[in-house]
Amino acid sequence: MPDWIVHVAVAWTLCHLLRFKYPQFDTPNTILVMVGALLPDVVKVVMLPNLLGHDWWNYVYALHQPLGSLLVAGFASLFFENKKESLLFFSLGVITHYALDLVLIQVSGGIYLFYPLSWLAFHLDLVPNDDYYITMVALGVAVLIYLITHRVSKGAK
Ligand SMILES: [Zn+2]
Repeated sequence: MPDWIVHVAVAWTLCHLLRFKYPQFDTPNTILVMVGALLPDVVKVVMLPNLLGHDWWNYVYALHQPLGSLLVAGFASLFFENKKESLLFFSLGVITHYALDLVLIQVSGGIYLFYPLSWLAFHLDLVPNDDYYITMVALGVAVLIYLITHRVSKGAK
């Protein structure tokens, strides 16, 4: 289920909902959250060397664990002027990523939320990985929020 479209749509929707209360969730910071929601899946770049016969999965696997993803977020935030704020927005995206990944039916045992302190794997096993109804629902909710926020902002003018 949580393909990249769902990760981005949920992050965008969350930011648009939070924008009602907190003006910090403007467009640039929403983009940071959306990028943060994709950061854990940077490990998928090893698919290319894998195709060429080099198994790099063990070297990058820790990046698809919360601590590894937060380290990547910390590294990415170094490229921004306001490092602390960008780290927080990246981190919110990372949190949404793992919240969505937790509901997946895990074939690999689950997500090691407390890696490297614990090898306890967490999973809720609610949704199969290839269920694209979830993608359609996430996009539908995002479009609905977009239409509502546009109507609200037009009404305010
Ligand atoms: Zn993931």
